[in-house]
Amino acid sequence: MSKQAIIKNTDLFKCPLCSSKMDMIGEKSLVCLKNHCFDLARSGYVNFFTRPVKTEYDQAMFHSRSIISKYGFFDSMLDTITDIIGNTIHHSSLGRTVMLDAGCGEGSHLHQVMEKLHLKTQRKFTGVGMDLSKEGIQMASKQYPDCIFCVGDLTRSPFMDEKFDVIINILSPSNYGEFKRLITKDGLLIKVIPGKEYLKELREALYHKTDKQRYSNEKVRRHFNDHFNLIVSQQVYYNKAMDEETLAHLIKMTPLSWSAAEREINKAIHAIKNITVDFTILCGKRKELQQG
Ligand SMILES: [Zn+2]
Repeated sequence: MSKQAIIKNTDLFKCPLCSSKMDMIGEKSLVCLKNHCFDLARSGYVNFFTRPVKTEYDQAMFHSRSIISKYGFFDSMLDTITDIIGNTIHHSSLGRTVMLDAGCGEGSHLHQVMEKLHLKTQRKFTGVGMDLSKEGIQMASKQYPDCIFCVGDLTRSPFMDEKFDVIINILSPSNYGEFKRLITKDGLLIKVIPGKEYLKELREALYHKTDKQRYSNEKVRRHFNDHFNLIVSQQVYYNKAMDEETLAHLIKMTPLSWSAAEREINKAIHAIKNITVDFTILCGKRKELQQG
């Protein structure tokens, strides 16, 4: 199914090596005008790297993120994103509406937003997820065959200009130069960053009295504003009850805990019953280039 989606949307892609357009050959490879060739994996994703890339995210981490996602940990945040998109993006009766998740990991955020949008708007979106991590994309393409997934680098993304009506970028690094290039003129960029109190119980338990306990998103906000006109900034704040097993997965998927001592982690797993979830959702449109 995701193979079919790629065949139907081949025009989205451009060769990451020479920037020329790509065509699908024999339902199994994307090939550019200069014959650079990228094969589709059996589960239907495309790997745009010509050599393996090592990331710090492994399969176990993505497995934990998938469990946390299914537990509903991100639901309120994803609901808010869906509302913003549903209220802002106006479908034309012709043509498709394409959404990119830049840094999609194991794909659960993209899949959920697509599903919620479909329920809300009765419209089909075309969903594309890209991540640096092959492990993440492998999981994503197996679990969510209704979306297009590729392994790729956000600094040289394998997509043509102005193809995406929506770009979501959730708890993942940005590349505003590429976002500006990829997004349509009226397109919407939605970036989710942690708020001050995100996972504060974990920070307190693992890093009391160190600078990792404090976090401010001011710099990220300013950076967003430099490149996109901010039209919505919304805080999403809630509490989630945690049993020990779920909390262990949350800790495994959270980079802030990776340098903590095991003894501290075990203590935290027993002690914490509730976790504070605090996100800031920034939503903006492209700043037009100055004339002259
Ligand atoms: Zn090429």
